[in-house]
Amino acid sequence: MTEFLIRNAHTILTMNDTGSELTGHDLLLRDGVIAEIGVGLSTSGEVVDAKNCVVTPGLVNTHHHLYQTLTRAVPGGQDALLFGWLKTLYPIWSRFGPDEMRVSALIGLAELALSGCTLTSDHLYLYPNGARLDDTIDAAREIGLRFHATRGAMSIGESSGGLPPDSLVENEDAILNDCVRVIDAFHDPSEGAMVRVGVAPCSPFSVSRELMRDAAILARDKGVMLHTHLAENEEDIAYSLETFGCRPGQYAEDLGWTGSDVWHAHCVKLDGREIRLFANSRTGVAHCPCSNCRLGSGIAPVRAMRDAGVPVGLGVDGSASNDAGNLMAEARQTMLLQRVANGADAISAREALYIATRGGAEVLGRTDCGQVAVGKRADIAIWDVSGIESAGSWDPAALLLAGPMQVRDLFVEGRQIVRDGHISTIPLAQVINQQNTLARALVDA
Ligand SMILES: [Zn+2]
Repeated sequence: MTEFLIRNAHTILTMNDTGSELTGHDLLLRDGVIAEIGVGLSTSGEVVDAKNCVVTPGLVNTHHHLYQTLTRAVPGGQDALLFGWLKTLYPIWSRFGPDEMRVSALIGLAELALSGCTLTSDHLYLYPNGARLDDTIDAAREIGLRFHATRGAMSIGESSGGLPPDSLVENEDAILNDCVRVIDAFHDPSEGAMVRVGVAPCSPFSVSRELMRDAAILARDKGVMLHTHLAENEEDIAYSLETFGCRPGQYAEDLGWTGSDVWHAHCVKLDGREIRLFANSRTGVAHCPCSNCRLGSGIAPVRAMRDAGVPVGLGVDGSASNDAGNLMAEARQTMLLQRVANGADAISAREALYIATRGGAEVLGRTDCGQVAVGKRADIAIWDVSGIESAGSWDPAALLLAGPMQVRDLFVEGRQIVRDGHISTIPLAQVINQQNTLARALVDA
């Protein structure tokens, strides 16, 4: 039995059904779950003093491409729109292999952990030179984050009118067979699961209509979730109208890509009808505000989606289009962008943090995560509000207004992953060295 007692927190933002905020309370974590919440609790395990700290549920990242941490700030891709950006990066990604996948995932996961993230999904849609989904799952197990890997894919290469080079696309039968392999090998449907697997063709412009349909049938047969990119920018809408003769929402609906077991990244350009479709079908959205800003894609209608009842979570998106992987920064950016679009009273700091925690857990189908409540998983972020960022703050619990943007401590399934601001499960300095060596080799090639 392992126990941690988080004692005397300044504030606990529970994100529970009534939005309770507790002051001076303790949290007892036992065997991976939140065992007790109260005042004056005791333990035979380790005690973590949280007197000057705000405690929140761990943040949930609903969209990422971990492999891209090896291609941050690539010249030629820094100032391009989505399609031009992809065409710059595809040839570089085609040189990746298993080491690049594992090490870049470790870096991306460590960066997420330091920003308070305890559960992340990943969308890996290219498998050059023997790379496998297994490489990223290994990385997540090593660092100890809860991980929803998705088996992505591209099947329409340049010679067939698609965007990616032919060298990066796969045969559709092989894609579906590998989906079955990784689901059977790794997917854990049980409560408290540390690894789940989803099926995730990259986007409507890189796979066929048949693969989208077959992927949905396979996912339902296996009881796993579906994920892809949708309605990211104007180019994406134009491609859909020209190629499929309909908007992305219609395309998704026709092929079985709506429902509470589906979540789509971006959805910047959803119109009113598509928002109603997603709300009625409980289809989730991964909102990626920094990536949308970086690629000039626009401001997603998050306010309208939330008001309509669409489940919305946050995503940092890949580090080639962000280029950071700080989930707290995404939450702040969500708040800022909705205010730019709709006014200063459009969204509160607390609502944006709710989207980053409970909202993301809902999108990923994790009712066991995303809130501080007895019986929920012990995924906890502890934010020190005694530092310079919060000095003078009248409401330190409004974390997104002042800060900090990095955690002091982080627990996943009751295990401490970040201690005093440092990753405690992997030798981070060594992994950074490996990452930079791999990046230099890509530049030299
Ligand atoms: Zn993406």
